[in-house]
Amino acid sequence: MTRIFCNYGDRNQKNEYILNKSQSYGDAPTKVRKTDHYKKEYIQSFVEKWDELIDWEARQKGEGKFFLTELKKRNKHKILDVATGTGYHSVALMKNGFEVRSADGSPEMLAKAFENGKNAGQILTTIQADWRWLNRDVHSRFDAAICLGNSFTHLFSENDRRKALAEFYSALKHDGILIIDHRNYDAILDNQDFTTKHTYYYAGDNVKAAPEHVDNGLARFRYEFPDESVYHLNMFPLREQYVRKLLKEVGFQKITTYGDFQETHKTDKPDFFIHIAEKS
Ligand code: SAM
Repeated sequence: MTRIFCNYGDRNQKNEYILNKSQSYGDAPTKVRKTDHYKKEYIQSFVEKWDELIDWEARQKGEGKFFLTELKKRNKHKILDVATGTGYHSVALMKNGFEVRSADGSPEMLAKAFENGKNAGQILTTIQADWRWLNRDVHSRFDAAICLGNSFTHLFSENDRRKALAEFYSALKHDGILIIDHRNYDAILDNQDFTTKHTYYYAGDNVKAAPEHVDNGLARFRYEFPDESVYHLNMFPLREQYVRKLLKEVGFQKITTYGDFQETHKTDKPDFFIHIAEKS
């Protein structure tokens, strides 16, 4: 069943929306390592701030036409955005003539995406769906699925990662592709180094984003906004080769990895890895 977000009929969703007024990590924030926690992290005030963090104009400059070009090159037209967030890629793709469905597990994110879409002259078709049970709510088959903006990092168990990838795989047509990205955690884990140039994604100049705690099972980032409000995200530090291995094991035949939107990343130290995984 496809749900347009305005039809906000689910009582449980509404309750959650009202209850989560502040992020809550309890007494031991670095012990919070749960896949389900993402809904409690993207509370409404943080979602509102998110577009300050993800400065759409700067982001457009950083990404250029990378995703549009890769999709067009492969003749992919019908796209499932599985991590819609506040709608940046869904809106950009719709503006460029793609057919898009916008999914996300967070009702707050989808509400913001719908509003952003409307302001940009696009009516998003939104689907609230957790990746682990994606095909319960997504019944169509797509040319491509995109999972961008360092989203996959929210899954904390290998089982959840395998399950989500299997769901993405099966939402695709026989020759579909998955485009999935993540921060270069290898650099952070190996050197405890955080030298992001803030060029891609986290492009808002006024927002300070930095890791507060890093170990093999957790990268906890702190985001400070100009009004001094502070939010956190607890994420799983995905290594490049590990993600490539999972993509292979779930059945993708060919995986091309780009560093900061270029294939020749091997000698550089990119901020982000982008994998394009092809089913056939
Ligand atoms: N793609 C957007 C962007 O680039 O701006 C949003 C990125 S945001 C970092 C991650 C998004 O993934 C959030 O909107 C969150 O709700 C969603 N998400 C995280 N875990 C999820 C899950 N298990 N199922 C569905 N959505 C999930």
